[in-house]
Amino acid sequence: MGKQVIVLGAGMVGVCCALELQRRGMSVQLVDRREPGMETSMGNAGVLARSSLMPFNHPGLWSQLPRLLKNDTVQFRYRWQYLARNLGWAARFLLSARPAVFQETAEALDGLIRLSAPEHLRLMDASGARRRLRDTGWIFLYRTQAAWDSGALARRAFAQYEVPTQELSPAELAALEPALSPIFHRALWIQGSYSVDDPHEVVAAYAELFRRQGGEFRRLTAGSIRRDGQGWTVQGLEGSGSLTADRLVVALGPWSKDILKSVGISLPMAFERGYHMHYSGRDGASVTRPVYDTGGGYVLSPMARGLRLSTGVELDACDAPARTDQLDLAEARAREAFPLDKRLDPAAWLGRRPTLPDSRPMIGEAPRHPGLWLALGHQHIGFSTGPGTAKILGELMADGGGAASRHYAFRPGRFI
Ligand SMILES: Cc1cc2nc3c(=O)[nH]c(=O)nc-3n(C[C@H](O)[C@H](O)[C@H](O)COP(=O)(O)OP(=O)(O)OC[C@H]3O[C@@H](n4cnc5c(N)ncnc54)[C@H](O)[C@@H]3O)c2cc1C
Repeated sequence: MGKQVIVLGAGMVGVCCALELQRRGMSVQLVDRREPGMETSMGNAGVLARSSLMPFNHPGLWSQLPRLLKNDTVQFRYRWQYLARNLGWAARFLLSARPAVFQETAEALDGLIRLSAPEHLRLMDASGARRRLRDTGWIFLYRTQAAWDSGALARRAFAQYEVPTQELSPAELAALEPALSPIFHRALWIQGSYSVDDPHEVVAAYAELFRRQGGEFRRLTAGSIRRDGQGWTVQGLEGSGSLTADRLVVALGPWSKDILKSVGISLPMAFERGYHMHYSGRDGASVTRPVYDTGGGYVLSPMARGLRLSTGVELDACDAPARTDQLDLAEARAREAFPLDKRLDPAAWLGRRPTLPDSRPMIGEAPRHPGLWLALGHQHIGFSTGPGTAKILGELMADGGGAASRHYAFRPGRFI
């Protein structure tokens, strides 16, 4: 197979794939309908953490269900009609919380996260984005002893996978983050982890590195894809042209599901939507690293633009209208914990975490579609794991057989 590749989608995942394939000597065209990094990879909480090996569907989820199904928390919301239409996905998602599947997922995600961190550092140095990085970890906050106790499963998983952590008393927490109100019973500092103060700038810097190294970036809204002889064609919408190459990588994040329908692939992907808003801190108050209030259900991240408050999950259609209730509640809970001042954005940002039933991304060649490669389904951790995904994709393209068994957990064939 030839060396020309189109990477469709210039979020963190697509940009990293483009860079890795370029590094391996391929001729790469990176394609997006917008400038790089303007969607999900822009609005996330900016956390790159070893602790993200815990997927949402872990064995503790079953006991949380009665509370979550009330549909009134910041952690989890859903639209009835969407859930009813996606009961098959929901059942598979819940079944993947069984201990055996969870262990397999945690192990796979841990490997992917470990692979990604040094690659991020390398790309940040090469692209000039290193100044965006903090190596101060992040902190899980627990309001009560019961909340702390319910985090035992996560702490066991962190110990098993050697995620460095430190338990903090209220006084130790106050020493690290003095602006937090003294309402927390205990905290867990996740160390050996990073965060950034402007996720969009990081993706934009990586994309600029790709261009500086001779890569081509094209603005095109893809309407469909098709196999063309030995290669693949991306057909733009409304006569906007088309592009053809030997291979195609689909890295459209949440929009991957739609485009793959054009070749008869029906992905079991759901959208864990989430919102963010920026705030100022009263009298300049801030935090020095992201904090996750487990009881409040939000993450507060210090960003270049201000304090970014991001919500948990809202299950709904990818492009359903935004609602305001989840963010409003997150704001109320965050005000209990921190002196937030004014909202800085005219409207809340809405993003979609693209999630497959086992919470593992899909990385590899699509079965029965030679030359069509997939790098998608990164749920809550695509900003951290874009570089590792790209490494795996590059290995698989270069050495299908051996690499395929090493990266079996991510094989597209598990759902296609
Ligand atoms: C509230 C929230 C907080 C999060 N926090 C974190 C975090 O702290 N750490 C972390 O690692 N992850 C986090 N995530 C998850 C992370 O942001 C995603 O997993 C990741 O950004 C997915 O990247 P992607 O490149 O796959 O998709 P995207 O960034 O969405 O990129 C897809 C690209 O496809 C393009 N596109 C779509 N349709 C077309 C088309 N038809 N033609 C051409 N181009 C098209 C879009 O313009 C876009 O640029 C969070 C997500 C949310 C919503």
